Amino acid sequence: MSNERTPRRGVLLIVASPSGAGKTSLCRRLMADHAGLELSISMTTRPIRPGEVADRDYHFVSHEEFQRLIDEDAFLEWADVHGNRYGSPRAPIDRALAEGRDVLFDIDWQGARDIAEKCPDDAVRVFILPPSLEELRRRLVTRSQDDDEVIERRIQNAKGEIAHCDMFDYVFVNDDFDRSYAELAHIYHAERSKRRRNLWVAHYRDALLNEVV
Ligand code: 5GP
Repeated sequence: MSNERTPRRGVLLIVASPSGAGKTSLCRRLMADHAGLELSISMTTRPIRPGEVADRDYHFVSHEEFQRLIDEDAFLEWADVHGNRYGSPRAPIDRALAEGRDVLFDIDWQGARDIAEKCPDDAVRVFILPPSLEELRRRLVTRSQDDDEVIERRIQNAKGEIAHCDMFDYVFVNDDFDRSYAELAHIYHAERSKRRRNLWVAHYRDALLNEVV
């Protein structure tokens, strides 16, 4: 956003959902509409999928490299998800916060829990529910990235993810893309406007109060 007032404290906007609930499309649109929002690119040990681009979708690393980064305390959070390791690199997040920029996370409920614990003033947790498990299955089949067995596993995993939706600050059902996008953007805008994030307000207020009219 161009008319930014500083100093401010950035938002750590965490968006979680079961896969197939539309989280990635919603996050992409939010990024496209907000130039100042930065995506946290996770590290993962899982193999790259067709269509994915290294260092855009994930930083793909070996198990040894991932373990070395854990030992160096290089992650703000990391978790085992479906048998692979995923983590949010700490350095770009620290840099963004120090500069008052916002960061978007497309991570699971464990990451949301850990970041909220470590950064309670900055983290905002949003959970996106699918309209139904039947609809989730239909979306996963239409996407046709996975075979039947993987789809069944994803549906079981979805139940595990949905079971944790109570710990999130905001929850909504993605039954209409445009409406859901408006909901997500409203949450982001409202969180950006919170006074505690806008440290410039004190100076601005004093300047107004001292203005001679
Ligand atoms: P996928 O392998 O389908 O890209 O991701 C599997 C799950 O891992 C998704 O729920 C995704 O949001 C989550 N995930 C991706 N990156 C991270 C991360 O850095 N930390 C955590 N905790 N979960 C992640």
